[in-house]
Amino acid sequence: MSNVYDVIVIGIGGMGSAVCQYASQAGLRVLGLEQFKIGHPYGSSHGQTRAIRKAYFEKPDYVPLCNRAIELWQNIEAQSQKQLLNLCGVAMYLPHAEGKIKDGLLQSASQYNIPIESLTIQEASKRWPLFHAEDNSEIFHEPEAGYLHVESCVRTMSKLAKSKGAHLLENTAVTDWQSNNNSVFVKTKLNTYTAKYLVITGGAWNTELLKSLNLRLSVHEVLTGWYPPQKHIMLGHDAAPVWLTELDNEIYYGFPMLDPRGMKIAKHTPGKRISNLSHITRTHSESEEIELGRHASRFIPTLSYIPTETQTCLYTMTPDEDFIVDRFPNTEHVIFAAGFSGHGFKFAPVMGEHITALITQSAQQVDCSFLKLRKSVVREQSKTHVLPSPSV
Ligand SMILES: Cc1cc2nc3c(=O)[nH]c(=O)nc-3n(C[C@H](O)[C@H](O)[C@H](O)COP(=O)(O)OP(=O)(O)OC[C@H]3O[C@@H](n4cnc5c(N)ncnc54)[C@H](O)[C@@H]3O)c2cc1C
Repeated sequence: MSNVYDVIVIGIGGMGSAVCQYASQAGLRVLGLEQFKIGHPYGSSHGQTRAIRKAYFEKPDYVPLCNRAIELWQNIEAQSQKQLLNLCGVAMYLPHAEGKIKDGLLQSASQYNIPIESLTIQEASKRWPLFHAEDNSEIFHEPEAGYLHVESCVRTMSKLAKSKGAHLLENTAVTDWQSNNNSVFVKTKLNTYTAKYLVITGGAWNTELLKSLNLRLSVHEVLTGWYPPQKHIMLGHDAAPVWLTELDNEIYYGFPMLDPRGMKIAKHTPGKRISNLSHITRTHSESEEIELGRHASRFIPTLSYIPTETQTCLYTMTPDEDFIVDRFPNTEHVIFAAGFSGHGFKFAPVMGEHITALITQSAQQVDCSFLKLRKSVVREQSKTHVLPSPSV
């Protein structure tokens, strides 16, 4: 196998698998390096499902990226003959007049003409008798939203990359990378690889891979649980779309029941902060699991609050919760994508396409300039320095 490539991608999770796919599709010789097996459960791209919504309450700038993401996921489905996306709709139950979601949701919907239904409590309880609306809830439904099968997405993009000639090495951790004016050098335990471009998509491990950038990234463990219905019934797509609700000023969300484990539920809040990645425990106490279940069963009273299974997933947060996707300062041929802040997965193919266009210097399909490296995401001391190439 040749050790010379056009692009080396560090990390084949959500973003990295997409970069491998789009770069190899563009005719580049790609090497992807992943420290675990592709589709593993230790980073941020596992746990059965990811929500995809267009009426983006976080910020309207993401809406064109959401539109493009849906097109690209459908394209990936057509190429792979795999069902990855299910546009079963998203129901939003908002009991707090000044909650985090409503204003942003309506702003994005009106700015970009996204269909959103507004329902009364009576209309909603007829349509989804499963859900309990708190008094004074405002209820919205986005019909052109839904969810993605997350592990299958990562494996499918990786497979498509391989079919276009990419070399993807699993169980191969990168121990160091360096660059000079023309090339990048990437070290693993057994080898050094060379390429013209390097793309760093290390998820939570970007805190180490991009250490010299001094980014304000914080890694958090997030609990996800599967909660079964009290009676042995399926609560699949007929009974429930993807849903989210605000309870006690926190956002909780869940998915239709896709297997006997139950409905997947999570709280959209960064959990326990991890200061050192080697200290990740990937465990939660029974009381945390029950607390999540109690909130879920407040919204879906027929749900047990005892999970059949739980998993831990990692959020890598930026202070403003916007991603950081840019070239490495003073090192044009190193590009990185970091800080996906618990809402990045849906955009993976958009990031793959965007980063490939940065490499090939071709026209961008959507405007991602609001995600560039910015002062607010860099710690003070490195702002005025010329940044050295880091060691991992
Ligand atoms: C519980 C939970 C729920 C979420 N829900 C949603 C949702 O509903 N919708 C949504 O859009 N987003 C959601 N997200 C966010 C989304 O999943 C993440 O933003 C996205 O998966 C991040 O992808 P990534 O490629 O940056 O990280 P990852 O997928 O973790 O990939 C990074 C990869 O780099 C590898 N790596 C790191 N260092 C090295 C090294 N030195 N050598 C080799 N390989 C290395 C890692 O092993 C890993 O595979 C959720 C996240 C979590 C945790």
